Amino acid sequence: MRVWLGSAFALLVWMTGFSASAQAADELVVYSARNEQLVRALFDDYSAATGTKIRFITDKAGPLMQRLKAEGANTPADLLITVDAGNLWRAAEEGLLRPVDSPVLTRNIPAHLRDPGNRWFGLSVRARTIVYSTARVKPAELTTYEDLANPEWKNRLCLRTSKKVYNQSLVATMIARLGDKKTEQIIRGWVANLATDVFSNDTSLIKAIAAGQCDVGIVNTYYYGRLKKKQPTLEAALFWPNQKISGVHVNVSGAGVTRHAKHPEAAAKFLEWLSTPPAQKILAESNMEYPANPTVPPHSLVASWGEFKQDTLNVSNAGKLQSRAVMIMDRAGYR
Ligand code: FE
Repeated sequence: MRVWLGSAFALLVWMTGFSASAQAADELVVYSARNEQLVRALFDDYSAATGTKIRFITDKAGPLMQRLKAEGANTPADLLITVDAGNLWRAAEEGLLRPVDSPVLTRNIPAHLRDPGNRWFGLSVRARTIVYSTARVKPAELTTYEDLANPEWKNRLCLRTSKKVYNQSLVATMIARLGDKKTEQIIRGWVANLATDVFSNDTSLIKAIAAGQCDVGIVNTYYYGRLKKKQPTLEAALFWPNQKISGVHVNVSGAGVTRHAKHPEAAAKFLEWLSTPPAQKILAESNMEYPANPTVPPHSLVASWGEFKQDTLNVSNAGKLQSRAVMIMDRAGYR
């Protein structure tokens, strides 16, 4: 949804107004695939602390990237904020971002959560983990994502659609670890164990578990957090899988400075600030995610789910192996 652009005319007026002040370094333009609710507090805090004015538009990642491409060197955007390492990877591959070599960023953001070429940086961590029925499953019965392919879970598994990039990223990391053949075998096992049709979103999947339609599933923790907040008696809990091997699958929301930024230094400074504790706290807490900066503790409700080992495979693999993941899921009959 566009926040302040009502029409092409408004865009024109805005861009004209912008180019007039294009030389001023105390202004930044952000294209954000995170919605206004999630980013406005951040922008306001930064503006208040530094005097840097931030203008922004919000839209889905695809349209924002299309727009950056179409605008080319004329883009007013200095920074792209989006969710999913696959999107960030694609933006970098398409030449929409520029490297930022910053000791602050490399210190604050762990290596597996940023582009090895420094074109984008993870800013919050989204853990995709197992959710189970507290009425019908004991946590001791659970071990790994892969184990959900075993016959003991027949007619007990719920999955979200394979069309969702979150599942494509999860499968991409399995390919990186286990190879195509083994991964396909596991997906076939998942499909064979499905209790019902795939879900269009994580929240309805968790509700299905609580309602007794299935016993286990795979979801992003913040969806569980939102639902649990509304329904404290929800009969579902989170489990951290793969703790003795790869760790919990994580993805990121993140940002990169655009290739044609008009204020690249100011944008890099803002990006650095986003990796520091005050910003990390807002970023993570606004959506019950985990801070990317490991020195910052998560919100107390999130912390109450316990600590876990996360997969330290670089999240860029989610992008690199995404098309292979889609192919394998299709071949295995995962819709
Ligand atoms: Fe989400």
